[in-house]
Amino acid sequence: MMKIEIKKLIYSDRKGFRLRIDEKGDLIVFAPYNATRNDVLQIVEKKMNWIVRTRERILENLKKIKQNNFEEGEEFLFLGRTYKLAFWLKSGIELDEKNRKIYVPFADKTTVQRKMLNFYKSKAKSYLQSVLDKCSENMNIKYKKFQIRDSKTVWGSCGKNGSINLNWRLILLPEEIIEHIIIHELAHVVYRNHSKQFYNFVSLFSKDYKEKDRWLRDNSYILNLFR
Ligand SMILES: [Zn+2]
Repeated sequence: MMKIEIKKLIYSDRKGFRLRIDEKGDLIVFAPYNATRNDVLQIVEKKMNWIVRTRERILENLKKIKQNNFEEGEEFLFLGRTYKLAFWLKSGIELDEKNRKIYVPFADKTTVQRKMLNFYKSKAKSYLQSVLDKCSENMNIKYKKFQIRDSKTVWGSCGKNGSINLNWRLILLPEEIIEHIIIHELAHVVYRNHSKQFYNFVSLFSKDYKEKDRWLRDNSYILNLFR
């Protein structure tokens, strides 16, 4: 049997068990008050495949997180493509599609970081707005308002009142993945859960949505960029 350490065992007033792998890859078990030691071991053993798979995925993603230094030649994402940072003496930021470079005014690290962040956020605002409007029309779902958010844990969310919040980091992802996330959030305007009906509805508009969700899980490190 595989040896997995239970990092935390938390008893509470709950009916069943819940297992969680935290962002460091540690296993946390939430158990009902009346659970015995044996119950805990049994549930862990039963869920071993899931635990191992999830841990591997999280540890793999942790390896991919690197601190950006904002130096020449460093790679940055934009709509799923990679661009190498290059400095120039002009004042704006520009993407060079042909040579896959992102030109940024030469400055100290903090200024470069701030300028790139502003660039990404403003690109995200207009790009995401256009995809949101396109999807909203296709799906015949109206949303209340749209806001750009800076989250380290979620790509997007849908408020109870039908407002859509999207992480500016979406602009780093491939276009078909961006569309998929927006379809997912718009579907929540109608379905406030992750039920079978919800996924049936999503599948009408987002082809291979399972594959795209898997891609997002495998690339969750992108949520940790620019922090
Ligand atoms: Zn959801």
